[in-house]
Amino acid sequence: MSTSHLDALIDALRKLPGVGVKSAQRMAFHLLQHDRGGAQQIARALEQAVQSVRHCSRCHTFTDDEVCAICRDTTRDARQLCVVETPADQAALERTGSYRGYYYVLMGRISPLDGVGASALGASGLLVRASDGQVEEVILATSFTAEGEATAHVLAEGLKARGLKVTRLARGVPAGSELEYVDLSTIAHALVDRR
Ligand code: ZN
Repeated sequence: MSTSHLDALIDALRKLPGVGVKSAQRMAFHLLQHDRGGAQQIARALEQAVQSVRHCSRCHTFTDDEVCAICRDTTRDARQLCVVETPADQAALERTGSYRGYYYVLMGRISPLDGVGASALGASGLLVRASDGQVEEVILATSFTAEGEATAHVLAEGLKARGLKVTRLARGVPAGSELEYVDLSTIAHALVDRR
């Protein structure tokens, strides 16, 4: 017996992080019963994103272009490079309005249990970016979780070995925090008080 289209949809939805079979069933039933237009919108958006979204050649974040809008902004301060784990963390820092340098987005963090080491994280791309001759300070804004701290430690060693000044967001940010959930004034202070 071949799988029904409904089963195939439920299987597909289970690929979303944190979605088990029950949630996937709820989503599938909801879309088919109440929101077929929404379902088509999701399908189109997914198809287009998968085809068009790529990594910025300078900062590694997601973008439709070869170089993202922030990296193209020539009014920013090229002497500062802030390293974040995710585009959401980058957006949190942007919202504070207190940082005018450029970014490097890791798209993850070192996680030995999941087999993500420095090389899998694309740390070499960061070293190349930071060695452009203009960057004077690399600000490590990885999260204050155990993995974020380990990531900052490993990256700092590689950057310092290249003679770059490395700072870390100050400890005002609560331990165990993902930057994206920390309030803006706390991030702004942590940025000013970085060491
Ligand atoms: Zn970029």
